[in-house]
Amino acid sequence: MEQAIPAAAAVQRLRILIQGQVQGVGFRPWIFRHAKQLNLSGSVCNTPAGLLVEVQGPKAENEVFVQTLRQQPPLFAKVEAVHIMEEAARPEADFVILPSSLEGEVLVTFPPDLATCEDCRQELFNPHDRRHLYPFINCTACGPRFTIIRSLPYDRSRTSMRDFALCPACAREYHDPGNRRFEAQPNACPVCGPQLQLLDAAGAALAGEPVAQAAGFLQQGAIVAVKGLGGYHLACLAADSRAVRRLRERKRRPHKALAVMFACMEEIKEHCLLSPGEERELLSPARPIVVLPRKSGCFLPTEISPDSPDIGAFLPYTPLHYLLLQKTGPLIMTSGNFSEEPMVKDEAGLAALLGTVADYALTHNRPIVRQCDDSVLKLSGGGRLFLRRARGFVPHRISLPLAGPAVLACGADVKNTFCLTQDHFAYPSQHIGDLAEEASQEFYLAQVEDFCALHGIKPEVVAHDLHPDYFSTRLARGMAAGRHLAVQHHHAHIAACMAENDVRGLVLGVALDGTGYGPDHTVWGGEILLADYRGFERLAHLQPRPMPGGEQAILHPVRMALSYLHGAGVHAVADMQAWLPALTAGQIENLLALLGKPTYSPLTSSAGRLFDAVAALLGCAGSVTYEGQAAVQLQSLAGEGTDDFYAFEILRGEKAGRISLESMFREIMTDIKQGQNASGIAARFHSTLAEAVAAACEQARAAVKVEQAVLSGGVFQNELFLRMCEKRLSQRGFAVYSHHALPPNDGCISLGQAVIALAQSGANGGEQ
Ligand code: ZN
Ligand code: ZN
Ligand code: FE
Repeated sequence: MEQAIPAAAAVQRLRILIQGQVQGVGFRPWIFRHAKQLNLSGSVCNTPAGLLVEVQGPKAENEVFVQTLRQQPPLFAKVEAVHIMEEAARPEADFVILPSSLEGEVLVTFPPDLATCEDCRQELFNPHDRRHLYPFINCTACGPRFTIIRSLPYDRSRTSMRDFALCPACAREYHDPGNRRFEAQPNACPVCGPQLQLLDAAGAALAGEPVAQAAGFLQQGAIVAVKGLGGYHLACLAADSRAVRRLRERKRRPHKALAVMFACMEEIKEHCLLSPGEERELLSPARPIVVLPRKSGCFLPTEISPDSPDIGAFLPYTPLHYLLLQKTGPLIMTSGNFSEEPMVKDEAGLAALLGTVADYALTHNRPIVRQCDDSVLKLSGGGRLFLRRARGFVPHRISLPLAGPAVLACGADVKNTFCLTQDHFAYPSQHIGDLAEEASQEFYLAQVEDFCALHGIKPEVVAHDLHPDYFSTRLARGMAAGRHLAVQHHHAHIAACMAENDVRGLVLGVALDGTGYGPDHTVWGGEILLADYRGFERLAHLQPRPMPGGEQAILHPVRMALSYLHGAGVHAVADMQAWLPALTAGQIENLLALLGKPTYSPLTSSAGRLFDAVAALLGCAGSVTYEGQAAVQLQSLAGEGTDDFYAFEILRGEKAGRISLESMFREIMTDIKQGQNASGIAARFHSTLAEAVAAACEQARAAVKVEQAVLSGGVFQNELFLRMCEKRLSQRGFAVYSHHALPPNDGCISLGQAVIALAQSGANGGEQ
């Protein structure tokens, strides 16, 4: 039946396009409910450009509708733009939800995976609910998203739920706009949805209830691969030191910290100290791993994080986690992979884990479309300090201070991410891993293609690191594009931090990290740059030291200690051995000989290597098994830090701007001789480097009149050192910026490359 058109003056029809994160967050049922409440007719539809709404009714009601939309959108929606056009009214009786339209350019963003919501958690444990104990319960406010979407727009038929036909009860919810599960794409129940299975080491399915059995095996010390949202975890009892050691051996990860999943906040509080801010992060729908100080009296074994007094803690974020943790207590939940490879996500990968690393697998038949590891962060000065940005945060986009052609920025080779841009938005990928691993290279190639397709972006410019031998560089150069652009590593660090903080103009960029290729073909990593998005000038840097044996010096920090001691005047083998008892006289002779040969001992200004040297001198690991290990140990030693610092010089004349730490090393040697404890020395070392950085910035400011200081590089994962630098620079009147949206490590390089490519493409209206 058709309704007559109401009197023309009284009725208004609006066509509203809502852009931002508007799909997969329950926005259409929200629109439906609000339109119905206001008695408006019209429609809502997902399109690649955004959510398209048409409403028709009295002008006053339309206004209320638009206002509510702007001010109180659904909880997880992010409205970035609302475009409104008035149209001619037409005969219409009802408000309807139309099927998704596939036409047009892809402009919407889609949500990250969302942790199980409180409503769903209660149903999970409610014996009268039809989904009681069903491990795949979800609704429009929670559940998998990023990891099940094959293509956009976000619709069940384009997710890995495609092959599960809804049963009548689920279909009723799915089609009822008043229901919490209205068009919840992963909606499922025990009748129609995915099912759990427990496999033994040979891959054979075991009979019986999978969760209870898996919990039993865990309690006996077994290692169980558990299928999560973005890949498999390897789980074992966190309290069982033998199981933890076995997991480390099998995974070939001897020292790097392992994350612990706790059943609930109360359980975390038994073991860790935390602030209300950290509590909020732990409970947020992203459910990241949050690095927390261990509480005294915490009985979890030190094997969890042998180099640090901290624990990476997180809470259950899938129904399966809730069911399992309820039966086991705290579990190690570490990425299911070997060393730095990507997480395993499918049957083929699981087969490689089973029997070698895992004794059992708690798995299911809902496919994971793409891997997405857990995010890891700390809170520093109230802000987020990411160590890894992935699940729960990807595919959020970042607004840029400039726009231009579509860019693919390939990132660096360690802790790789890549980044796409379109207009003034950047889309950083999830953490990919270390591209030295063949499995990571495959994952990288697949993800670049996948991300371009998902976002409908065809890159016109490809940006990459200046390092000629990076996998990402070679790949970038082989790609068809209008333009290729090489970007210096530390310039990229600084540009990334500027972009995420919307900093414009010139800055003093402090880039402290392990390794980055310099235009002079030496290894940079302790740099103070005068920079904007277009270019940079190297104003100051750490006085370079030779790395005896090149790459070998990265694996064996004791070699850097030898190099720095040599620079501070220790030349005799016997003297050197007194300082570095871990080395034999023969080893020292060889290393001293190497030191004199520039081909075998490339120069580096790396701050990472400086941390290595001091750590080794203080008796920390002479060799390391993961990137930054010596620095982690040194930070742990330094405790809460100090304001005292050692002597240092900022050289003048020919070597102007070089920061020399020779006198610091001599003072450290004196301290050691006098029996000062390592902890105090480590603390004073931290504040010396912070003081040297601040003094160098102050000197640079006198020359270039720039008041903004930007901090980036892996060294700033050390929040003690970050705080010391921030404090000293702000005391000197600088506006100080650090990373809060991306990690300060090489995970941010791709964003920096992308904005530099935009700036150098010059198509951004000259905005800087
Ligand atoms: Zn829910
Ligand atoms: Zn069902
Ligand atoms: Fe770096």
